[in-house]
Amino acid sequence: MTTTTDPFRTTVPLPPGGTIPLLGFGTWQITGDAARQAVGWALEAGYRHLDTATVYRNEAEVGAGLRDSGLPREDVFLTTKVPPNRAGQELATLQQSLTALGTDHVDLWLIHWPNGSDVASGTWRALVEAREQGLARSIGVSNYSLGQLDALTEETGVTPAVNQIEWSPFLFDAAVADGHRRRGVALEGYSPFQASRLDHPTLTDIAARLGKAPTQVIVRWHLQHEVVVIPKSANRERIVANAAVGDIELTAADMAALDGLAGQG
Ligand code: NAP
Repeated sequence: MTTTTDPFRTTVPLPPGGTIPLLGFGTWQITGDAARQAVGWALEAGYRHLDTATVYRNEAEVGAGLRDSGLPREDVFLTTKVPPNRAGQELATLQQSLTALGTDHVDLWLIHWPNGSDVASGTWRALVEAREQGLARSIGVSNYSLGQLDALTEETGVTPAVNQIEWSPFLFDAAVADGHRRRGVALEGYSPFQASRLDHPTLTDIAARLGKAPTQVIVRWHLQHEVVVIPKSANRERIVANAAVGDIELTAADMAALDGLAGQG
């Protein structure tokens, strides 16, 4: 990564094809007009990747914000998720998502979480079918352990392109990151700020030296690890600030210090 990197246009590959922008906009707990407005602000700020889910109850507003922006659909990477309790009705659930979002496909469709110890292989087969029908360009999972990823692959023969899990410097686990890399599964982190201690001195010292906010350092840390990051804010200034990280250069020592925050949250 260099100081000229545009965080909105930096992508990582998704197997078996396509790419995902490393920086996205999270929309959990924003509903109604606030969601439509926040999505509009995010797209205006330059985000080109939106993360929603059936259970967020904001897909219609996310779709409206996207339409308001006037951006071509293909310029924006759109993720939604199906909860595992929709087993047997997955494709109907996806159709509801597509109708609400106002699109004929999503870029990424995820199983929102495994069903307890059950890896939801039946639901996964429905996601594979959706991909084959072109309704989802890529498919993946969320909240799966490495063991559950392996079980799903063994049961179905298809490895998820993405696993979206809670991630931050305070949750950093090199074995988990490496395990995803070795399996060819893109690691997408969620709750980058909620899962952090924003006042931890290691973080605030690095931020102060760079003249940046701890939240910006956290976003940049994800990008330099090539981990997808989807910060959420309902506030216009914070939406802009969270993505203003293109001019940050964390040194190897900074990265090691931030990695070392694991377990200190
Ligand atoms: P987050 O992005 O870590 O943090 C959001 C919180 O931080 C909000 O309270 C927000 O308040 C605040 N915030 C945002 N920018 C800030 C800044 N610059 N300074 C100080 N505070 C700031 O939390 P998250 O929403 O849990 O995670 C992000 C996204 O990940 C979600 O929106 C969702 O799309 C996804 N997610 C997925 C799962 C899953 O199970 N797959 C679970 C959780 C989240 P304001 O809005 O007031 O700015």
